[in-house]
Amino acid sequence: MASGSVVPANRGRRNHTEDEKLQFEATEGIEPITSFERMGIKDDLLRGIFAYGFEKPSAIQQRAVMPIIQGRDVIAQAQSGTGKSSMISLAVCQMADTSTREVQALILSPTRELATQTEKVIMAIGLHMNIQAHACVGGKSVGEDIRKLEYGVHVVSGTPGRVCDMIKRRTLRTRNIKLLILDESDEMLSRGFKDQIYDVYRYLPPELQVVLISATLPNEILEITSKFMTDPVKILVKRDELTLEGIKQFFVAVEQEDWKFDTLCDLYDTLTITQAVIFCNTKRKVDWLTEKMRNNNFTVSSMHGDMPQKERDAIMKEFRDGDTRVLITTDVWARGIDVQQVSLVINYDLPNNRELYIHRIGRSGRFGRKGVAINFVKKDDIRILRDIEQYYSTQIDEMPMNVADLI
Ligand code: ADP
Ligand code: MG
Repeated sequence: MASGSVVPANRGRRNHTEDEKLQFEATEGIEPITSFERMGIKDDLLRGIFAYGFEKPSAIQQRAVMPIIQGRDVIAQAQSGTGKSSMISLAVCQMADTSTREVQALILSPTRELATQTEKVIMAIGLHMNIQAHACVGGKSVGEDIRKLEYGVHVVSGTPGRVCDMIKRRTLRTRNIKLLILDESDEMLSRGFKDQIYDVYRYLPPELQVVLISATLPNEILEITSKFMTDPVKILVKRDELTLEGIKQFFVAVEQEDWKFDTLCDLYDTLTITQAVIFCNTKRKVDWLTEKMRNNNFTVSSMHGDMPQKERDAIMKEFRDGDTRVLITTDVWARGIDVQQVSLVINYDLPNNRELYIHRIGRSGRFGRKGVAINFVKKDDIRILRDIEQYYSTQIDEMPMNVADLI
């Protein structure tokens, strides 16, 4: 299985001290604030945060929460799983005035599952302050959206299509929206979504605060932010600091596509140690691989964007509850989804771009946990993998025999 013809691995990665890892390139004058109490957060929200299990703000939270709640435009980048999305839930709770029932904050995310996950976090940490949030996403009942929105909510967390639809029907009233947050913002401002975002943006009041969040913020995205942001506070991570020490990355060299399947079967016991996510590049391949695994008596679940939303929801719930352990999926799962028990990610196919690589492997190793990523590479793929390795100044070694010990 192993191929001897591999280009030497990039050994250039520096040894980081804990402190160094937390270093950001931040706008001058941004001082980290190391406790939630000192952020001036409302008491009933503080109670919710502690009850949810957060004791101390993470590095990005220490830097970005204050500028956001002070009303600044903010561009916040930090490694996957370090608390960016949680931070926006906290920020919207802090800014929301619950004495009215008007929508004051709008969060847009690229997938229905991520938008729903964020709504749940808001409801959980905002429990004691009676915050009302609504996940406004495609694939769900329009009637239910209308009912919820007409009753009145403080925060909408949605996907662009459905949100825009609700705005155009005047069911989602934008008059009192003060804060727009784009989670996974590089994806939201990329070709696939840009027009839809603009469509929503033009209905929002002119005095709008804008916050952008992502683990990856390529230059071409940063360049366009001046068009809709005012003197933003920037907290950025250099790309050679973007991979997490806690996620070990490996590759398995396969001569040909067929060998990937046998390799995966050999790894099955390792997959089920905790929970694992297997990425394929197409929905068809997800279906094909799922069926083939099942025909060989392996238990797997699978999810992709062509499935009815009810089924997607059911599969998400089972996986979140730990009732299923191995999920075969597409890039619909690449960004933002937080299941702490996932400790292994397999790239059955290498992702189509460098950003997706970071997001996929970041489904493991959440908030400082250990993670392992294994890339299946055909001969031609090795070049692509070495490019990723170099781009992020990281290290991707050949998978060792004892990989299970690392999970
Ligand atoms: P990101 O958006 O950066 O990928 P998330 O906000 O999804 O990260 O958070 C990753 C995980 O870390 C979640 O399970 C979340 O509950 C947890 N988490 C976030 N902030 C804290 C904190 N301050 N203390 C403890 N756990 C946290
Ligand atoms: Mg996130």
